[in-house]
Amino acid sequence: MRLSRGYWQTLKETPSDAEVISQKLMLRSGLIYKTAAGLYTYLPMAFRTLKKVEKIVREELDRIGCFEVQMPLMTPAELWKESGRWDTMGPQMLKVQDRAERELCFSPTNEETITDVFRKTISSYKQLPVCLYQINTKFRDEIRPRFGLMRAREFSMKDGYSLHLDKESLDKFYDEIYGAYSNIFRRLGLEFIAVEADGGAMASGGAKTHEFQVVAGNGEDDVVHVPQTGFAANIEKAMTERRGLTTLPASELTKFATPNQKTCEEVCSAHGFDITHSLKSIIMVATIKGKDQFFMVMILGDDSLNEVKFKNKVAADDIRPAHQAELETLGLVKGSMGPTVETDKLKIIFDETVDMNSSYVVGANEDGFHFKGFVPSRDTKAKHFRADMRLAKDGDFIGEHAITMKKGIEVGHIFQLGDKYTKAMKVTVLNDKGQAVTPIMGCYGIGVSRVIASSIEQNHDENGIIWPASIAPYDVYLGYIGKAPEFKDIAESIFSELNSQFEVLFDDRGMGPGAMFKDADLLGLPIRVTLGERDFNATGEIEVKIRKTGETLKVKKEELAATIKTKLSELGKWA
Ligand code: ATP
Ligand code: MG
Repeated sequence: MRLSRGYWQTLKETPSDAEVISQKLMLRSGLIYKTAAGLYTYLPMAFRTLKKVEKIVREELDRIGCFEVQMPLMTPAELWKESGRWDTMGPQMLKVQDRAERELCFSPTNEETITDVFRKTISSYKQLPVCLYQINTKFRDEIRPRFGLMRAREFSMKDGYSLHLDKESLDKFYDEIYGAYSNIFRRLGLEFIAVEADGGAMASGGAKTHEFQVVAGNGEDDVVHVPQTGFAANIEKAMTERRGLTTLPASELTKFATPNQKTCEEVCSAHGFDITHSLKSIIMVATIKGKDQFFMVMILGDDSLNEVKFKNKVAADDIRPAHQAELETLGLVKGSMGPTVETDKLKIIFDETVDMNSSYVVGANEDGFHFKGFVPSRDTKAKHFRADMRLAKDGDFIGEHAITMKKGIEVGHIFQLGDKYTKAMKVTVLNDKGQAVTPIMGCYGIGVSRVIASSIEQNHDENGIIWPASIAPYDVYLGYIGKAPEFKDIAESIFSELNSQFEVLFDDRGMGPGAMFKDADLLGLPIRVTLGERDFNATGEIEVKIRKTGETLKVKKEELAATIKTKLSELGKWA
């Protein structure tokens, strides 16, 4: 592509509402245009990268025997009602009515659509296993679209779905897809870890699920990592242990004044208690089988609630913190809530780190007062039980090793669904004995557009993007510095020669070297080739610069193509 006739505009200033580096660089380097919150136009450079990411995804999935399909953007409400998700997906799912007042939604994912396809087209075990995938636009009305392509409302996702007769077949395929994902993210040039994820209520019975997380400071996910063993898990799933806790012996339950001291930190520091000798009360509302139920979760004063563990434990469809008005109906006083409350309107869950026979500081349900000497097993009047409720944090242990917390961006997710959809949507196939049985499914997602943002988060410097060679919009940035018309002709001939072997962006705009190099660095193609009139006429040498390493070579015209080929290969272009 020659820039004099191309479409490419860079910005001098970073748009003020851009928050993370990938978003800033994508906007500044003219890759994307923000049409509205969470809605982006992919300009030519980003579109080329998007197609390259898609190609790698396709190649690896096709290699393990998956087939590409395309499902409709809209899904009729009936299918979602069959699975039960029409009412549980929440406001992320954008619902509309057509002219005949039929309800539809913009697909946020496609389990229902594919399950319907499976049940109408697959009737025998002989047609199994099978995996179909698509790469297309998904819409999720995210409450906070942000970070550019990282959390958009409209985005490109690869979603795949497999159907199996039994768990053995699903497990075997799961390993294959895990391998394909590892190849995909390796070829995309990403530093990633596959982490054990939370499978929700579905994961009971040994269903596996992994997230592929790109390690990056701006990631929104917390990953628990044990470098010594390579173990990695999503924070929501990680079972870690707190070590070195001390406890206070049981003592008499005593009320004491805590004026204006609302939090565990405030009460403990004012009265000389260790924060781990206090308990925090968190009031949650869980919607279970359509009914709201109240829970008081008790965790150590400096711990946080793991909402996913809570949701799974009580098997809720949805959970949220209780509102002020609800606290009042339960007889609880904000800033002083505690587990001595006597009511059958809530159940209390003590986190497993709480020693049921030791003393703790807790709220007294009276404004400005707390209790000390609260012994859970002795002083709890409401119905209660114990469970693991806390969020893992730095300093926790798994076995003999201390964990490390890392920030990650979820770029892929693989999931054994079991019979969740096939059962709800009444899919059956005949097994080899001619009996109708319910097959099981797996689903496999990749955030294709999010991959681009993640790649930039990992690969950039102060001057701009540093594309992995496998997904760069072009291979080579070819620029020339010189005024003579004969020299322009030489540049043209080098362009056509290189362009027949590589993807070349030819900067023939006639800009000065300063501005041209700035643009080249900002866009970050793997190799920059500069033809300088003076050098070329004097020695016949052409400059080749590697964006990633800054390495500069001087080569003759005859060696140019071979040098580029070697360098691109070293940079993983054909990985
Ligand atoms: P997240 O936890 O980040 O919201 P998710 O777990 O809801 O994602 P999945 O349903 O697993 O997402 O979707 C598959 C993949 O689609 C994710 O792994 C992610 O890479 C991508 N994805 C999900 N939501 C978005 C979004 N709003 N913008 C861009 N990519 C997204
Ligand atoms: Mg996910």
